[in-house]
Amino acid sequence: MQTPSIRHHCALFGIWGHDDATALTHLGLYALQHRGQEGAGIVTTNGEHLLRHAGLGLVNEVFNAVNLNKIRGRVAIGHCRYSTTGSCTEKNVQPLLFSYAGGQVAIAHNGNLINAALLRQNYEKVGHIFQTTSDTEVIIHLLAKPAHQSKEKPLNHVLNHLQGAYSLLLLFPDRMVAVRDPLGFRPLCLGTMEDGAIVVASETKAFDMIDATYLRDVEPGEIVTIDDKGIRSRRFGGDTGTRGAACIFEQIYFADPSSKVFGENVHMVRAAMGRKLAQESGVEADLVVPVPNAAQCAAVGYAHEADIPLGRAFTTSYFSGRSFIMPTQAGRDLAVKMKLSVIKEAIEGKRLVVVEDSVVRGTTTRGKIGALREAGAKEIHLRVASPPIRHACYFGIDFPNPKKLIANTRSVDEIRRYLQVDSLHYLSHEGMLSCVKMDPQKYCTACFSGDYPIDVSEPVEKFALERGQLRMFT
Ligand code: SF4
Repeated sequence: MQTPSIRHHCALFGIWGHDDATALTHLGLYALQHRGQEGAGIVTTNGEHLLRHAGLGLVNEVFNAVNLNKIRGRVAIGHCRYSTTGSCTEKNVQPLLFSYAGGQVAIAHNGNLINAALLRQNYEKVGHIFQTTSDTEVIIHLLAKPAHQSKEKPLNHVLNHLQGAYSLLLLFPDRMVAVRDPLGFRPLCLGTMEDGAIVVASETKAFDMIDATYLRDVEPGEIVTIDDKGIRSRRFGGDTGTRGAACIFEQIYFADPSSKVFGENVHMVRAAMGRKLAQESGVEADLVVPVPNAAQCAAVGYAHEADIPLGRAFTTSYFSGRSFIMPTQAGRDLAVKMKLSVIKEAIEGKRLVVVEDSVVRGTTTRGKIGALREAGAKEIHLRVASPPIRHACYFGIDFPNPKKLIANTRSVDEIRRYLQVDSLHYLSHEGMLSCVKMDPQKYCTACFSGDYPIDVSEPVEKFALERGQLRMFT
């Protein structure tokens, strides 16, 4: 279940050179819907012009046979959005489409630019008019700047001005361009289809949906240009040395378990985290139960390692609609109840190990634990397959204000008492990093460790662009 207090960011999908590019992009976005549910859009090209359809809502609410037919093309890019900068309004739905001196361009972005408000202020001072309140639009203003247009490779100069997290897809009438920021915060991968079409997606789950084959990740600091001549690659942003910033939360929670992210399968990483957690925090129990759905993979690993049967304590309602943000605690409790029902007979009188992927505010976890107690669980031992989240994310994950993070001010024992569990263990930081294959230096773990991979001394909060001012994240 999507936890109401963390929300996903965005999904990108693009395809070059297929007669059904528009329909396949629709399918690709459908496969990536878990990454953003506020809005969706597709832009296609007929070789001369770009065509766009986008709207608020889920992929299957935004698109239908009629509007997809109107934007049919052999090339398309698509986006599912959850807003991490700028509010959820129609004008912010991506891909954004613009005309500038160089022609038309569409852009789709996953991540968050931490210097967007500053760049925008500078442009507004000299008369630029912005059409959206999304951080992404500033990239197009940079691209249109005559000083950048006169360069041999304008995009390299544009990207050198950006700070923060960005995986991008740009569509021009004659080419598609995929970009990953120099630290590689967000995933982006390249694939191919049997007929030679080239595909780009945030996660390989989209490739599986359309029978495409994964080729490789777009590398951090790489610009990949795709057109009828094939794929060309160039670098930007200089050498970051051994440092990278792939978001470890993709492995813990965001990405789909079937996907390959940062070079390895997400389910296998989560199962390894569950095994490690069992090694670090063994306890006598009758049953291991995941809190659905993101903790299922970690629970499999935990149960296997601890040699305790894996069971089911909850059923999930697939008909309660989208997860939604409730402004009050009562509303959040109701949202949890609408999504989850406890299977009383499965847990009554049992000692449970309850596996969670992460604990953010703690309020929803407390609700679930309370429901298990009410249903007659004898003991509840909570095991969290990630370390305590103590710090804000400025790179595209919408954690609440740090003061609302339960681990920001409370000790583990204080959290245990608040959650009303018999014991509580989090996966250690070292344990978490031991479960991924990539060099730990290449991962961002800032929300756990406070070790930010780039300077965030002047972070900008989500609605700064709407208020027309820079505000510190408080
Ligand atoms: S701070 Fe946390 S959620 Fe944000 S990019 Fe880093 S690891 Fe991911």
